[in-house]
Amino acid sequence: MTGTAGTAGAVTNWARTLTYTARAFHRPATLDALAAVVAGSARVRVLGSGHSFSRIADPGPQGVLVSTAGLPPVIEVDTAARTVRVSGGVRYAELARGVHARGLALPNMASLPHISVAGSVATGTHGSGVGNGPLASAVRELELLLADGSTVRIGRGEARFDGAVTSLGALGVVTALTLDLEPAYEVEQHVFTELPLDGLDFTAVSAAGYSVSLFTDWREPVLRHVWVKRRTDGPAVRFPWAAPARVPVHPVPGMPATHCTEQLGVPGPWHERLPHFRAEFTPSSGAEIQSEYLLPRPAAVDALRAVDGIRSAVAGVLQTCEVRTVAADPQWLSPAHARDSVALHFTWVPDEAAVLPVVRRLEEALAPFDPRPHWGKVYAMPPAVVRGRYARLADFRELVGSLDPGGKFTNAFVRDLLAD
Ligand SMILES: Cc1cc2nc3c(=O)[nH]c(=O)nc-3n(C[C@H](O)[C@H](O)[C@H](O)COP(=O)(O)OP(=O)(O)OC[C@H]3O[C@@H](n4cnc5c(N)ncnc54)[C@H](O)[C@@H]3O)c2cc1C
Repeated sequence: MTGTAGTAGAVTNWARTLTYTARAFHRPATLDALAAVVAGSARVRVLGSGHSFSRIADPGPQGVLVSTAGLPPVIEVDTAARTVRVSGGVRYAELARGVHARGLALPNMASLPHISVAGSVATGTHGSGVGNGPLASAVRELELLLADGSTVRIGRGEARFDGAVTSLGALGVVTALTLDLEPAYEVEQHVFTELPLDGLDFTAVSAAGYSVSLFTDWREPVLRHVWVKRRTDGPAVRFPWAAPARVPVHPVPGMPATHCTEQLGVPGPWHERLPHFRAEFTPSSGAEIQSEYLLPRPAAVDALRAVDGIRSAVAGVLQTCEVRTVAADPQWLSPAHARDSVALHFTWVPDEAAVLPVVRRLEEALAPFDPRPHWGKVYAMPPAVVRGRYARLADFRELVGSLDPGGKFTNAFVRDLLAD
């Protein structure tokens, strides 16, 4: 993310694939300064670490973009309750180190630890694992700064809670979150190579470890790598379908494996194995566009075959494709809402003109499986189609109406989604 506070300057997302169209950009250093910006602005969008590829955070030319990156980091661990209260702008890398130092752990992490907690849960960001919900499933309470300057706490158990965590930033500024923790655990990372799509037993392969990711370049109907992350307090890895990798690998062909967390079955702390990428290096390739779709898990193999049907078009603009599982999530706007999901992710080359036609073809191929796009990534589906995939959208619309009746935190992205 680049740009200077106070100006509308060129503030871009992390990948520099889009420039936000804000009238002004603020990076407050205190909660009081944040509240003053919110109170004094008609339209506000909050920016976390800027890792989204969609225009979800864009306030539009009349709006104000407020970064949480300069706010004081808060990480308060309650070892007895096994919870942590964390300020919204803190990144998972810092949170994980703080929690681990107290002998505790998060249940899961995304592929990278560089992303902010509030920004991640707002978009339904997830890792992998047949029994693991998205990162939002660890949230037990939110603290929100509302449009009128008041603050509200919304906790698990309240009816509106399931609309409040994966909120696309449309309710207010998430100043802090309380998350569930568990005792710290160790994880080993085993990689297997060249697993043919033909005969894939997706149910068995995706359950081969606590968190499993399958990677392919779609140049052939072959899964180039299967990353199996095994908790050392869980069952041993049995993987009869493909051979183990002899050297560490990177998900993007040609990128150095030194950027990745340790592999070859060496056990290590949860937060140094669950993400694919190390906090101190650029994650993924750095020059890229991303898309991702969540579909009902029983459709996994048929959906992969559908992508295989347009394999050469996909491969032409692809850096890597990752397939993960996400457990059903009660959050109304979660792409995994109410269904155990398979997530098909695509890291494209950074060439929008070449990528968008392929995204459209991909969406046509996946349409029979009711895909829900990742809110933070690029998709081409009309808002009306996306709306039709969320049974609780009307409830979310009502929640926005009750917490932000003037639409201060609404932007074009949210307006399109909420349109009647
Ligand atoms: C290299 C790379 C790897 C990725 N890997 C994964 C992955 O493994 N799994 C996955 O699911 N996704 C992944 N993503 C996508 C990423 O997790 C999401 O885009 C996520 O939203 C990033 O968090 P952020 O803080 O950067 O959010 P931003 O892009 O800054 O913001 C996203 C949304 O959150 C809102 N928001 C941010 N902070 C607040 C706040 N304090 N209060 C209210 N609203 C707020 C914004 O307004 C916006 O609507 C990846 C992205 C990249 C670039």
